[in-house]
Amino acid sequence: MFESLKNLLKHFTGSQETESTTSTSASSNQKTEVTSKTSSEDSLQYITLGKFNLGIGSIGPDTRNDIDQTVLNEMYQAIAIGLFNIPVNGSVPEICVDGRTNKSGHRKSAPCAAGGTLSVVYGGDLGSNSASIDLTEVQLTAETIKTLKGKGHQAGVHGDDHSDCGCGACAKAPTIYQHITERINDLAALISQLGITITESERDSIVQQAKNRLNQAGFFAENRASVVQIARDTGAEYEELVGKHNELGIALNTRAGTTVDRSAIRSKYGPQYDMFVVDAWAFGNAARDINSTGHEADEQRIAKAITLQNVATASILGHGSLRIIPIA
Ligand SMILES: [Zn+2]
Repeated sequence: MFESLKNLLKHFTGSQETESTTSTSASSNQKTEVTSKTSSEDSLQYITLGKFNLGIGSIGPDTRNDIDQTVLNEMYQAIAIGLFNIPVNGSVPEICVDGRTNKSGHRKSAPCAAGGTLSVVYGGDLGSNSASIDLTEVQLTAETIKTLKGKGHQAGVHGDDHSDCGCGACAKAPTIYQHITERINDLAALISQLGITITESERDSIVQQAKNRLNQAGFFAENRASVVQIARDTGAEYEELVGKHNELGIALNTRAGTTVDRSAIRSKYGPQYDMFVVDAWAFGNAARDINSTGHEADEQRIAKAITLQNVATASILGHGSLRIIPIA
């Protein structure tokens, strides 16, 4: 599945290079090649959440007045060609997609998904059709982390320096489950554009599981920070991120063994230029390692549920103007 995503994104990147070559030669009367590459039209090649009626949050370029459009387009294009990719330790999602850093300006070098390890918790829950019906979110979190650690993986979660629960994927998990039940078709349409097809029966199963949890009294912890706390108590490493959300897009990375260097992006473009980072290449690895049945169909559905949880989180936190920048 993620091979097909990678192939599609390669094709996407390929046609993008062709387009920019064409636009350069077509506009050879212009002064420089840079001018044609940084026209505001260039960012239009990347899809927005809004194109799929998604993005009901506030994080995104159109809610900002401190961003230079030319710099933004340059940044998107540099990210798309992998200029900021760096090697990671680990092969399953471990730290959050959050674009912020700790107070020293750094992040752990590890694969990213919405909520870090909590993406595997929620995706594993939504994608499994044999999930325990009586477990709570807190118990599920502890179980998932034990399973991952038992297979030799690290786990990770985060907070920030000013909120009770500074991880949006965790703080808003019930809303994200609700969003999946209400907007499955829009979410699936976006994912389909990225080359991953969620079948009718997979959709039904994931939506049903989301509804089951929303209807299960006491499944979601009232104190959202307690979910992060149980993860830490079970051995997840903790990052304290600082400052406000400045994400301007979603880097969708399919280069195995890498992530995107947030510090390097800031050094080059300025401290107000951040990106959400989704290391989609790691989703299949996590699905394989937490699938309790050993059946291929279950593994596929879990990988797709992790993908859905990531897109739904982006849609809840992000504005419709957030663009998805694929890195093939
Ligand atoms: Zn987070």
